[in-house]
Amino acid sequence: MTTKPFQAESKRLLEMMINSIYSQKEIFIRELISNASDAIDKMYYRALTDDTLTFNKDDYYIKLRTDQENRELVITDTGIGMTEEELEANLGIIAKSGSLAFKKENEIKDGHDIIGQFGVGFYSAFMAADYVTVYTKSADSSQAYKWESNGADGYTIEPAEKETVGTEVIIKLRENTEDENYDEYLDEHKLKSIVKKYSDYIRYPIKMDVSVH
Ligand code: ADP
Ligand code: MG
Repeated sequence: MTTKPFQAESKRLLEMMINSIYSQKEIFIRELISNASDAIDKMYYRALTDDTLTFNKDDYYIKLRTDQENRELVITDTGIGMTEEELEANLGIIAKSGSLAFKKENEIKDGHDIIGQFGVGFYSAFMAADYVTVYTKSADSSQAYKWESNGADGYTIEPAEKETVGTEVIIKLRENTEDENYDEYLDEHKLKSIVKKYSDYIRYPIKMDVSVH
């Protein structure tokens, strides 16, 4: 398996994210939840236009899970998922929307709060992650895929096992440093307060399943 390099612009943004001293790293959770919600929206709209599909509200939700032992935060959704091509196009290259707007605005005004104002997107996960693993199965494909990256060295995509349509994003948290406590993203109360703070408007249930050692 070969590691593919990120596109040049993506690389710049990634480097910023990785080296970010931004005080609100926690907004990566907002970004991942918002992507999960967008993916569920896409299922919803598809069901509206496709008579063979029904959108049963109970089947659509976002879930936060932690693995204390492995220091992982996992965000799962039952949204539309991604095909191999979509994975490549969406996570290998900077997406058009939020990320690009951020990149433009960021030529650099006053550094800090810009991150908070824009949807900085998926790559913000690298503010807290050593590496990120995505398992995804598209509603349009019977094959699931795994995408993985440490941000710096590009990414890999390979076929994977996943039974249900949707996406699972696994954040392998960085080791704590003197200045940063990444363990807080494994803490139920902290997670709840982050969700409440940034994702209160999300229309789908956000479930939580936190292991206690
Ligand atoms: P934006 O959400 O502004 O488009 P992001 O960087 O947050 O930018 O995400 C890039 C793209 O990756 C999204 O547009 C979407 O196509 C895809 N994506 C990210 N997360 C998910 C997910 N959980 N399910 C399906 N697609 C996703
Ligand atoms: Mg997004």
